[in-house]
Amino acid sequence: MFMSKIIVLIGAPGAGKGTQARLLESRLGIPQISTGDMFREMKNSDTRLAREVQEIMASGKLVPDALTYEMVRERTARPDCRATFVLDGFPRTAVQAEMLESLSDELGKPVVAIQIDVPMEILEKRLTGRRSCPECGEIYNIFFKAPKSEGYCDLHPRAELVQRADDTEEKVKVRLETYEDNTKPLLEYYRSSGRLETVDGSRDPEEIYKEIESLIGSANATV
Ligand code: AMP
Repeated sequence: MFMSKIIVLIGAPGAGKGTQARLLESRLGIPQISTGDMFREMKNSDTRLAREVQEIMASGKLVPDALTYEMVRERTARPDCRATFVLDGFPRTAVQAEMLESLSDELGKPVVAIQIDVPMEILEKRLTGRRSCPECGEIYNIFFKAPKSEGYCDLHPRAELVQRADDTEEKVKVRLETYEDNTKPLLEYYRSSGRLETVDGSRDPEEIYKEIESLIGSANATV
């Protein structure tokens, strides 16, 4: 029996955290906790808070730490997170990293941070070129994985592909700067405490996945 862990995927926007977290969930049954997805879901509720969050996200800046942590705490208290879970997009600031230390103590689960490292030039193209199908969520990229017919989904030929509001050139610049200023310093925080692993995220997602899977071993074992 293996000890449950909190796996933290750290990487710039576009590094592929979401892709890897989804693979871990579908193949190993490790729940993916994505703060970005949770905030995007708030789009469907028409409260003042939801509108504020949408505005912050659209600007490429970060949602306040306290609100973000409250959401993570509430989500990770659910039964599917009894054993190992993977955090995708949290922590993103030093304050959030401290909040995660207290959650880790409370739950008795150590943090294992995995950096997905991708050069800046690739990140820019991955983000600004990203398009998705509103019907099935299939992701394309106008530079790396163009659809057969420009602007339309291969699987749903009548569905016009959409771009995330924060994937425009201007917003991507802000998001990458926000990463450099707020999140990158966390790498040193985890490295100096011997909890950081790094994988080369410029490769094929399957290759990256294999490496991550071997790094975490059987971290999905039950408590
Ligand atoms: P993502 O899908 O991870 O790129 O997140 C999209 C947006 O959600 C970010 O640009 C932020 O505005 C917000 N967000 C996601 N995770 C966090 C976090 N841990 N702290 C603050 N804001 C976040």
